Amino acid sequence: MTTTPDDSGRSEAADLTESAEAATSSNLSDATARAQAHAELVDQIEEQRAAYYGDDSPLVADAEYDELVHRLEDLEEQFPELVTDSSPTQTVGGSVDTSTFDPVEHIGRMYSLDNVFDYEELRGWYDRVRAATSARSKFLCELKIDGLAVNLLYQGGELVRAATRGDGRIGEDITANVRTISDIPVHLDTDHPPAEVEIRGEVFFPLEKFTELNAALVEEGKSPFANPRNSAAGSLRQKDPAVTAVRPLHMLVHGIAVWTPADDSHPEPAHQSEVYEQFRSWGLPISEYFQVLETIDEIEDFVTHYGEHRHDVTHEIDGIVIKIDDIAVQETLGYTSRAPRWATAFKYPPEEVTTKLIDIQVQVGRTGRVTPFAVMEPVTVAGSTVERATLHNAHEVTRKGVLIGDTVTLRKAGDVIPEVLGPVAALRDGSEREFVMPDRCPSCGTKLGQQKEGDKDLRCPNSRSCPAQLANRIFYLASRAAFDIEALGEEAALALTAPTEPEQPPLTSEAFLFDLTAEDLADVKIWRDKKVKGVETGERELVPYFYTRATAKKPSGPSANTKKLFDELDKAKDQDLWRVLVALSIRHVGPTAARTLAAHFRTLAAIRNAELEELSAVDGIGSTIAASIHDWFAVDWHNEIVDAWAKAGVRMEDEEQESGAQTLEGLTIVATGSLSTFTRDGIKEAILGAGGKASSSVSKKTDYLVAGENAGSKVDKAESLEVKVIDEDSFRALLETGRLD
Ligand code: NAD
Repeated sequence: MTTTPDDSGRSEAADLTESAEAATSSNLSDATARAQAHAELVDQIEEQRAAYYGDDSPLVADAEYDELVHRLEDLEEQFPELVTDSSPTQTVGGSVDTSTFDPVEHIGRMYSLDNVFDYEELRGWYDRVRAATSARSKFLCELKIDGLAVNLLYQGGELVRAATRGDGRIGEDITANVRTISDIPVHLDTDHPPAEVEIRGEVFFPLEKFTELNAALVEEGKSPFANPRNSAAGSLRQKDPAVTAVRPLHMLVHGIAVWTPADDSHPEPAHQSEVYEQFRSWGLPISEYFQVLETIDEIEDFVTHYGEHRHDVTHEIDGIVIKIDDIAVQETLGYTSRAPRWATAFKYPPEEVTTKLIDIQVQVGRTGRVTPFAVMEPVTVAGSTVERATLHNAHEVTRKGVLIGDTVTLRKAGDVIPEVLGPVAALRDGSEREFVMPDRCPSCGTKLGQQKEGDKDLRCPNSRSCPAQLANRIFYLASRAAFDIEALGEEAALALTAPTEPEQPPLTSEAFLFDLTAEDLADVKIWRDKKVKGVETGERELVPYFYTRATAKKPSGPSANTKKLFDELDKAKDQDLWRVLVALSIRHVGPTAARTLAAHFRTLAAIRNAELEELSAVDGIGSTIAASIHDWFAVDWHNEIVDAWAKAGVRMEDEEQESGAQTLEGLTIVATGSLSTFTRDGIKEAILGAGGKASSSVSKKTDYLVAGENAGSKVDKAESLEVKVIDEDSFRALLETGRLD
């Protein structure tokens, strides 16, 4: 099985992109169409953000994401009434995984950065900030590190907390993991530390180690990381500090938020560059590449230089950050709700390389979508080696005009997903041949078809027993976003569903996953490259997958990984309901929708029995997801999976304590502004969990508006409609007691 991002949801993302494109190009003079186009774009961006920040596993390339955000910005610029506090244009993308980490509130907010994409936009930004500041301040230019933003809190010179950015206000407490990174001092090397200082930086994975890590993961049967940024995020955003400790993570610091001097004789420096020098003297890691420059020509030269030398640096960079050096001027310019006005990021264009297209093969994804993909001579692009790239569908192969045997141009949009752009036709010698899309499933031989008329994709309709679809579903249900079964990687999923031996695989449906016994796996064998003392011999051999090999001293038995698999399967039976929902592979039901459904319905039976209208009335679900759930439960073999899992002991409801008292039953509540103890999703979950309705806009039907800091226009609207506005403390009281005192 080859897993490209297509297998883990690209098809759903692509479907959504198409529907939003249709919506944005529809008649925008109609307010309803505009609102719908806006809502669909927001949904897609939120879905992509959840995958990128929450699961560390993006669905699309960064350039594709940036393009969607641009479309949203354009739409909001044209129709400002569409802008809401929660629009992705107004918020810092990110999420807080409270099931794994404690949420912590940053003392100073963590922001994103605004972007410019060419020299003209850069000059525009430079002229604007120059015009807005009377002082002739200088600009600190530095590399934009493509890593994970981390906030370090030192009190009296001691590292007391480290957190991810989260939504900018609340992050995840990753102190134990960060303490294992040797670059980061636990005590600052100074006799005069500030009383309190928050230091921001980027944790990253060195490029040369990234390839090694991925090779090791593949060897262990686990999925490789898509890029160094994901590997840094994945290494930090996991429970076990021992895992972080063995990953060669580094950090570079690039900012401060709060600086409370211990006394007047050691004040906060006046310039960003002096802050860096101070950091250096305290033993904090700072980049050796920053420069303080004055004119736009100097800044452009800096940007051009590193554009040409991106790979001379040990970490991945996706641009240059330009900041006003004078901190007093920074403070005068201030911040938007999402980014500082005193800084911008120049994003480099995606890189392009050429390589040979050896073959075009097809693979079958989790949802039966059959995708052609390019098999290429390995080539390094944007810091990692690429040998495969999805070609999406047969129409795309034709549109790109590529032939097997062509030299093709390939790019990676600074990051994740490699894309074949087209052939270098001048290099053809006549030996190239056209790709022919098969009309039968390469895995099970079933005739392929479109799901609905006009679809460009072909699908294998044999969802139930097509081995490729089954293997992909099993691999997916074991992912971190579902049952989180580490011992069930890509290779194990294949060995369970389509081993070389025996002919009858141990699993013919995921329904029986929890009924597996060690004996069922004793004879499973797969082909592997033969190694002698760790060195490949060039031969292949048939080896037991789940059992150890028998030796003179020891008979064959379940391997350590197999024992771990059974332990993890046992633990999986006791997971939250939302994870069970994700594991079922219902189209469009990823972690966000699953959490919303679980908070609302509490039991799987309630979701199964819900009418379509009931499902689509749930805030955050909408008609597409509702229809998909409804259709899914209308299929007998789907219900058999649910029943078999329940019979095997999988918990199909959330535990009592989580269902809590239904204190908000019958109440419709809207939250706005920033709250100190809830994230945006957190307050929604709390409202839903207590039986209330969480809505995103204020109307006559709203019972309460919970207003946090910097609450905007919703408060005016609530007041004009005579909706009661309450603060966070009152909301807590209401949540706990069902009453407002
Ligand atoms: P960003 O990455 O464009 O910039 C902000 C971040 O840059 C800061 O939070 C900071 O941590 C970091 N940074 C790195 N070097 C820095 C330096 N020297 N000085 C200051 N800050 C520095 O913005 P973002 O909000 O973190 O993420 C948005 C970007 O993430 C998008 O443009 C896109 O490229 C990517 N993204 C991709 C997907 C996807 O699905 N592929 C989804 C969401 C976001």
